[in-house]
Amino acid sequence: MPDIIAIGGGQASFSFISKLRSLGYQKPISLICGENHIPYQRPPLSKKFLIGELEKDRLFFKPQGFYDEQNIEVIKGQIVKKIDRRQSQIILENEKVLNYKTLFLGLGSRSRLLPKNLSNGIPKLYYIREIGDISFITKEFRYKRKLIILGGGFIGLEVASVARNFGVDVTILESQERILKRTSAKIVANHIKKIHLLNGVFIKENTNIKKFLKTKNNSIRILTNKNEELLADFMIIGIGAQPNTEIADNAGLLIDNGIVVDENCRTSDPNIFAAGDCVSFPFNKDLIRLENVGNAIEQSEAASENVLGKDIKYQPVPWFWSDQFDIKLQIAGLNKGFTKVFHRQSDQKNSFWYYKDDQLISVEAINDPKSYMVGKKLLEMKKTPSSKDIVSNKINLKDMLREIK
Ligand SMILES: Cc1cc2nc3c(=O)[nH]c(=O)nc-3n(C[C@H](O)[C@H](O)[C@H](O)COP(=O)(O)OP(=O)(O)OC[C@H]3O[C@@H](n4cnc5c(N)ncnc54)[C@H](O)[C@@H]3O)c2cc1C
Repeated sequence: MPDIIAIGGGQASFSFISKLRSLGYQKPISLICGENHIPYQRPPLSKKFLIGELEKDRLFFKPQGFYDEQNIEVIKGQIVKKIDRRQSQIILENEKVLNYKTLFLGLGSRSRLLPKNLSNGIPKLYYIREIGDISFITKEFRYKRKLIILGGGFIGLEVASVARNFGVDVTILESQERILKRTSAKIVANHIKKIHLLNGVFIKENTNIKKFLKTKNNSIRILTNKNEELLADFMIIGIGAQPNTEIADNAGLLIDNGIVVDENCRTSDPNIFAAGDCVSFPFNKDLIRLENVGNAIEQSEAASENVLGKDIKYQPVPWFWSDQFDIKLQIAGLNKGFTKVFHRQSDQKNSFWYYKDDQLISVEAINDPKSYMVGKKLLEMKKTPSSKDIVSNKINLKDMLREIK
């Protein structure tokens, strides 16, 4: 019988079990993957794997041999349908029952779907979440036809950039007044928008789907909220994700836009830990949920330490990246509640420094890894540079880091 069971074959569970082993934990571990794969990384699905520059084998964090060597039992293609907390058991889809002493939930999130009454019967609407989603999309790309992407967030923008690379005609529909409304300031969104427009992406803001209209062939005909008719051969929907909380909810764990954990990554049941996209955790007197790799890794690793009896309080400086055309955007910190943004620019490097009143809270850097690194360090040290130094190119960033110590 495994002492520890991790549910979910994503970044969070993988980081959790790897960390347990690297900390010297030797007892049996079981890992239940709902998908028919050993754990793999998702970011390349909208980047290098989509474009064809990364082989499928490279998506997996480790080959099967790693799990065999580490005495980790991997059960693939099985959804856990129930957690029975009273018996400390989980029940799989195939009715198999497994006992645990400690349970870890790395259930992740899933794509937010278009409402059924809108999309029912419409062909060629694609989502990007799992390996299996990609082959359908790359097949469409090869025909170089007309694509409409719903949603101007990171996934929509990354897919647009790959699709343009294949010569596909791309239009993004964004329901808000601008792209990246949820994540970035207007000045950053405008910068990224410009790059997309220069590369031939059409962006329609304040635009949503009112309904799909009938077509005689296999194409898609949309009527927008502005009563404009648009045609596409296929669509990719990137309208966000929602956390997988159902089995935790049914087991009576506390849920609030995610499975609620404390700063030790423990759920409302002391024998159940959780981390990654499926989790809401305390951060600056708030309860937040993040959907990024950095959070899935660091929170899960903190959970491993705490499972083994340490008292690690998870208080991250969140980080994220996105690749679009020839730009790499790197983000450190969270910009929620920012009051000012300062722009630092030299050559092709741009960074945007978010302040809440007089405190630095986040940095977004475009093709500027040095600003990202220095910004992240300053955030970790809880130091704030003067905005004059930020906008002045005369002040070397590394010097700023040294002086501010
Ligand atoms: C296309 C794409 C691009 C991305 N790009 C970036 C990026 O550039 N940078 C970045 O930082 N982040 C990026 N992300 C986000 C990042 O991939 C996620 O934050 C990360 O994967 C979270 O890991 P996780 O383990 O919490 O969840 P997931 O990766 O979602 O894994 C959860 C797993 O649990 C399984 N599961 C759920 N319920 C059950 C159950 N009941 N039984 C068994 N298994 C179950 C799911 O099937 C899934 O396999 C991207 C995500 C996507 C989809």
